[in-house]
Amino acid sequence: MVRLRKWMLALAALVLAAGCACAFDPSVPPAQRNAILISWDGAQRDHVKECLSRNELPNLAALIKEGSFVEIDVVGHQTDTKAGHTQMLTGYDPDVTGVYSNSKYRPIPEGYTIFERLNQQFGKENIATIMLTGKSHHIGSLGPGETAPPKAARPRQARKNTVAEDEETAKLKPQQRAAAEAQKVAQTNKEGEPWYKVKANFTVWDGDIARPASKVGPRCLDYIDKYGKGRFFAFFHFSDPDHKGHANGENSKEYNDALIECDQWLGKIVEKLKANGLYDKTMIFVTADHGFDEGKTSHKNAPYVFLAANDPKVKKNGDQRDIVPTILVEMGADLSKITPKLPGKPLLQ
Ligand SMILES: [Zn+2]
Repeated sequence: MVRLRKWMLALAALVLAAGCACAFDPSVPPAQRNAILISWDGAQRDHVKECLSRNELPNLAALIKEGSFVEIDVVGHQTDTKAGHTQMLTGYDPDVTGVYSNSKYRPIPEGYTIFERLNQQFGKENIATIMLTGKSHHIGSLGPGETAPPKAARPRQARKNTVAEDEETAKLKPQQRAAAEAQKVAQTNKEGEPWYKVKANFTVWDGDIARPASKVGPRCLDYIDKYGKGRFFAFFHFSDPDHKGHANGENSKEYNDALIECDQWLGKIVEKLKANGLYDKTMIFVTADHGFDEGKTSHKNAPYVFLAANDPKVKKNGDQRDIVPTILVEMGADLSKITPKLPGKPLLQ
């Protein structure tokens, strides 16, 4: 009996020491936390809410149950991929970053991205920063005048899966589409794409390739395996809702299915973090670069997105500029050290 009690006490101590990675633990000090920011490109707030009410996004629902869901509006720039992701990942307005829209842009100045802010505050050797994307040019890093990455840099599989970047090109045949895209890039890419100057400062730049969730998702899990032993911040981008919305419309089954597929990958990411014993100290944020015009194949005026998180301190509605300061504070960064001053406010209670 005594022996059994001793054994049970030892087991209880072991469980306590190992911690339980089955929920995010807000008592983990911010400076010890990891964060993953996931973008569901073109996910309209109302459509996501409708999916949630139909129980079609169980993994997002579980995240929200643990943490929060707040409303994010996109203000001060075009509701498109380049401008949206630049603000989501720098916290600045276009007059600071130079990224106004998909056609009016220049490279983001060095040092201004959330990846580099984390390096500045904690030391590059102390935190891995990872950027993984599923689109090329609109979240790309080509140099001035370049229209495509060198052929050697583009895996065969990725070329096969090339998907159209916008509404008009989505309707063309693949060859016409490639030509139309190259022409558009040639017309606008005078100074370099947004991520041209900054990508060299990240631990991992895995971009400039158009690819679906089935190709992006497994790489998310690989990066968690590879960098989870140390501290990390990762940005994972899923382009599928945007492409399906352009091709089939916001109210289509295809757009809805793309959101469901994003949710399934969210579930696999959570599962991986739990299996690796990292979930208790890893915050997950899910957002979108822009929404979608209701019932249409465009996002010309689509400012309504969201921020979902397993972090229960996220409580306030805000705009896209607030995402960077929210994550930085929750990772233990000191906003007063950042220049130029970030215009947004943490969305924390
Ligand atoms: Zn789009």
